[in-house]
Amino acid sequence: MTAADTARPLVGVLALQGGVEEHLSVLESLGAETRRVRLPQDLDGLGGIILPGRESSTIDKLARSFGVAEPLRRAVEGGLPVLATCAGLIYSARDLENPASGQQTLGLIDVTVRRNAFGNQRFSEERTVPVTLGSETLNIEASFIRAPIVTRVGEGVEAIATVPREDGEAVVGVRQGTVTALSFHPEENGDSRLHAAWLASL
Ligand code: GLN
Repeated sequence: MTAADTARPLVGVLALQGGVEEHLSVLESLGAETRRVRLPQDLDGLGGIILPGRESSTIDKLARSFGVAEPLRRAVEGGLPVLATCAGLIYSARDLENPASGQQTLGLIDVTVRRNAFGNQRFSEERTVPVTLGSETLNIEASFIRAPIVTRVGEGVEAIATVPREDGEAVVGVRQGTVTALSFHPEENGDSRLHAAWLASL
């Protein structure tokens, strides 16, 4: 074991809009070192990054105006692990069914995503969702807040969570390479097991 193996991981949270504090407090409760990421230089030395929820079109606009979008995309292509939640999933997708006007995504994961897929803008619900991470399945207490669903899962992408809907099973969690992305918020309900499993994989 080297010193690097035992060091606390330094985890960034993309902090352009909001939805940040809950992730920071879960990460800190698990012993990770954290950093708010707004500028390209904030990516230096990170062991992983969280792309939080809120409004994906606003995150996109701000990331481009802060000049962090392209460096972030390159860092992930270079192997930086990502945990994306809700708007973070939308921002990570290759394609959107219903983008806002001019909305761009990072294209980190080969999926098509439908924004606000659970009904009207205010729709919000809590439910238990089984999420498969490697050999373990965690039953996560998840909040769906104007949540997206994945409507196309590309080659090389693993569906790690689904929920039943009237039109069949909807994919709400996906993983491709070092990117794990979820439709819902695991950080809202004091359930830190998903972050713990992700940190353990860094
Ligand atoms: N509907 C939002 C969007 O398009 C995502 C909602 C959320 O992150 N809770 O970005």
